[in-house]
Amino acid sequence: MVDEKKCIACGGCVAICPVQAIKIVKGKAKIDPKKCIRCGSCMNFCPMNAIDINK
Ligand code: SF4
Ligand code: SF4
Repeated sequence: MVDEKKCIACGGCVAICPVQAIKIVKGKAKIDPKKCIRCGSCMNFCPMNAIDINK
């Protein structure tokens, strides 16, 4: 769901996620699919277009 080549670890998706499903792990955003409710906020926010919740 997160393209690690694109993610710059800005932290914005972590802050915007309403269910705290995203963490920065080793400098890359990581989504916990068990917590994610697929609201799309992180995908819409990401300045690098690194997130695709449909994958
Ligand atoms: S918003 Fe995008 S670039 Fe920023 S940490 Fe999240 S996935 Fe990475
Ligand atoms: S789609 Fe919504 S719930 Fe899932 S990780 Fe992104 S912001 Fe969080």
